[in-house]
Amino acid sequence: MKIIDKFLTENDYTRPPGRKIAEKRAVILHWVGVPRQKAPAVWDYFEHGCAGKIYASAHYCIDLDGTVYRFIPDDSVAYHCGSSQIDPQSGKIYTDWARAIFGKYAKEPKRNSPNNAAIGIEMCVLDAEGNFAAETLQAAVELTAYLCKTYQIPIERVGTHNMVVGWKDCPRLWTRYPDKFEDFKKEVIGLLNG
Ligand SMILES: [Zn+2]
Repeated sequence: MKIIDKFLTENDYTRPPGRKIAEKRAVILHWVGVPRQKAPAVWDYFEHGCAGKIYASAHYCIDLDGTVYRFIPDDSVAYHCGSSQIDPQSGKIYTDWARAIFGKYAKEPKRNSPNNAAIGIEMCVLDAEGNFAAETLQAAVELTAYLCKTYQIPIERVGTHNMVVGWKDCPRLWTRYPDKFEDFKKEVIGLLNG
């Protein structure tokens, strides 16, 4: 796994200046949502498209060729899994899974959010169905295992954006086919045990 540091400029909307993550409780995976968009373009979107306007970012982005870009240091806050909208299905802002894992970080969305306790990974995709290139998937397995090992995050705390915010179709492939996400986690477990 090759990691390239390409840090976002500190900005209230993407990389809040001086804001450290409170705890590293979970790893949350996302898709970028735009077929064949490459990681440097995602960086560009956060750096220029979101700064000053839209709260959005992630710690990592994995490119179509499996290159891992680090946009935000692990110890700082990124905006990837917070919400202020009620999920029509559950009637709550965060899912049962999220509230069990994040506790106080999933109770008061205005003042606190799972972003204070989660590392976020964006994954580039091949198409609108959200299929991943084999290289992207492999790097995601390696990066997730590395984060789990480094910060003692158990596999039960590896989740998708959809598992935190129930109405989010992110990453689409794993929202539609949860079995594929289970397969992904098995690969991570395999690496951790191997
Ligand atoms: Zn997402």
